[in-house]
Amino acid sequence: MFRKIWQKTMIAMALSDRVKAFAQNSRATSFLSGKYVSGDSPEAGIKRAQDLLEDTGIRSSLFYMGEYVDDWNLVALNIENKLEIADQLGRSGLDVHVSIDPTQIGHHLDPTIVAGHAENIAKAVQLAAGDSGEINCLMLDMEDASLNDPTIALHNHLQNMGLPVALTLQAYLKRTHGDILEQIERGSRVRLVKGAFAAGADIAYTKRSDVKQNSRKIIADMFSAEARKNRFYPIIATHDTALQDFTIETARANGWNAGEYEFEMLLGVREDVAIALAATGERVRVYVPFGRDWWPHAARRIGENPANALLLARSLIS
Ligand SMILES: Cc1cc2nc3c(=O)[nH]c(=O)nc-3n(C[C@H](O)[C@H](O)[C@H](O)COP(=O)(O)OP(=O)(O)OC[C@H]3O[C@@H](n4cnc5c(N)ncnc54)[C@H](O)[C@@H]3O)c2cc1C
Repeated sequence: MFRKIWQKTMIAMALSDRVKAFAQNSRATSFLSGKYVSGDSPEAGIKRAQDLLEDTGIRSSLFYMGEYVDDWNLVALNIENKLEIADQLGRSGLDVHVSIDPTQIGHHLDPTIVAGHAENIAKAVQLAAGDSGEINCLMLDMEDASLNDPTIALHNHLQNMGLPVALTLQAYLKRTHGDILEQIERGSRVRLVKGAFAAGADIAYTKRSDVKQNSRKIIADMFSAEARKNRFYPIIATHDTALQDFTIETARANGWNAGEYEFEMLLGVREDVAIALAATGERVRVYVPFGRDWWPHAARRIGENPANALLLARSLIS
């Protein structure tokens, strides 16, 4: 119960402009940006990605922060940073793996222009990656439930154009099992997450145990013989070690080897687990955010674990 209230409170705080202005301008909360964010600039993101790869063998997906944008200047700034990071990743010899939210590139201002913006970023990823392989892509993050259909349509459009694209789907939603089956049919690359948003019981599983159960059901399909035949690429993004173990068991039972799928985790969350997993030979990627607009991302991370209430309290009173 407390977990749910805590998560809803932090989601509301993530979306509040007033809280954001306070948090991003206060020295007290700067500790939180240091924990979950690599720094202000593309260079800071690249540096963190290089260090992670050299020190631990962990790969990165770079994310320029700034979500739910309703200002054209900010949309332009977001796109500029996505293009810049793709270029810098290519020149650094790192995976060209860039994450975007559709609302960052103008969905709330004019949904009809989003496809054009996404095409430009996906083309930049393709160009920067050269012929260095299928591991490079533009990853579409999934936002609240109102964005499900537009984001899936955007993914399918870019994929139909032959551009390197991947899609995030959320196990808390009842529709997701069906969406996954469609993406398996298309031979896509899909990142499965539990979901960082809340929704009603008409469309979502509201009990954690049900979300977990649905995750297992979906993972079983993501590693099916059908998925393998269609060259589907599973990405399991979770800090839940039981779900990671279930993934590895399912993969092995169905003939998938380490490196034919990947795990993803978030910067600043259970880093010991990510390092241990990579040390076993699994392909592990960490989502590395950068930029000044860090509060919405950090607030969601804080909301994911009630124990983080202490972290927030400590940063406010120190
Ligand atoms: C790479 C990546 C990309 C993501 N992209 C999206 C997206 O596009 N859309 C979306 O809705 N969600 C996204 N998420 C967030 C996701 O939906 C979950 O909210 C988040 O990952 C927590 O769920 P979990 O599977 O880790 O399991 P949980 O059951 O929440 O946690 C498993 C264990 O990890 C610990 N843990 C989890 N999170 C934290 C934390 N922040 N701090 C401390 N401990 C923690 C828990 O306490 C628990 O012990 C993404 C997550 C990852 C890893």
